[in-house]
Amino acid sequence: MVDDPGQGSMPAVSRGGAGRLARIVLLGTGGTIASSAADAAQLHDYQVTVGVDAILAAVPQVRQLADVRCEQLMNVESHEIDNAMLLGMARRIQALLDEDDVDGVVITHGTDTLEESAYFLNLVLDTAKPVVVVGAMRPATALSADGPLNLLNAVRLAACAEAGGKGVLVMLNDRIGAARHVTKMHTTATDAFYSAEQGSLGEIAGGVVHFFSAPTRRHTTHCEFSLADIDALPQVDIIFDHLGAGAHLYRAAIEAGACGIVLAATGNGSLSPSARQGAALARERGVVFVRSSRVGQGVVTDSADDAVLDTVAANSLNPQKARILLMLVLCVTRDVAAIRDCFRLY
Ligand code: ASP
Repeated sequence: MVDDPGQGSMPAVSRGGAGRLARIVLLGTGGTIASSAADAAQLHDYQVTVGVDAILAAVPQVRQLADVRCEQLMNVESHEIDNAMLLGMARRIQALLDEDDVDGVVITHGTDTLEESAYFLNLVLDTAKPVVVVGAMRPATALSADGPLNLLNAVRLAACAEAGGKGVLVMLNDRIGAARHVTKMHTTATDAFYSAEQGSLGEIAGGVVHFFSAPTRRHTTHCEFSLADIDALPQVDIIFDHLGAGAHLYRAAIEAGACGIVLAATGNGSLSPSARQGAALARERGVVFVRSSRVGQGVVTDSADDAVLDTVAANSLNPQKARILLMLVLCVTRDVAAIRDCFRLY
């Protein structure tokens, strides 16, 4: 149940109505939560081997919370997911959400790119039903594996009425993250996902879903992106700036067909001499150039450079999420002013 007596205080187990359990689809895509190693003490160099049915079977307590059916969409490391697979994932989830007898969807996903898929889904799914993305930092075979409890919590969250209408949610380490804000901030710790500036939307404690806040940026039913209008996602590349960088990577990206470039800039989206050359070349070739930051926290503010070079400030989106938004925006418009608006709204 949720802790707020004012709204949505119904027990999660009766969300489906008439006392029945909520009907949740558990969609497997792979990642560490689906991985095994030869030894329980081995926490690296493991392989994706575990099907989503087995992940669910390892947590029989889930059955008390929801009526869960499994579907294996893919079983890969999350860095293997390309644009076509991401689009396919979103289409399948939308189809499931469109079924009357589905109350919510939980997606198991590798943590390395989890925030990218979650933010993409947050922007394209047309639903107010709960959608929860879950992963694990330790393989299923590990001592103190975190996947089972994360999965239980993800289903508990998806079965909770109050989780609807909040965009795509991310569930790891008891915390509820908003797909817009949450990011992976640690290479190995189970406490790897944070929304540093914005905070968690809530947490699960004592078997109860506690929401503290709701997302303020546009998501799901409030977005202008429609899966029906997208055949393929355009090429958008991220270029990481650093001391001593040259302009060759910008040339390479543009020659390879990039429609957009996201700069993981130094500081507040600053343009170094090479980045400035890259932005000028992008402008000349009609390639949209977004200034994000490699810093990890804070807003990249608008700059006088934007008017000169047609660059776009990424606001508080990190480079990998700015890339997701830019791919979607480029499916709709190439107008720089409209793109700037999108980076303020989403
Ligand atoms: N390599 C894994 C992945 O598929 C990492 C993880 O899931 O934690 O992203």
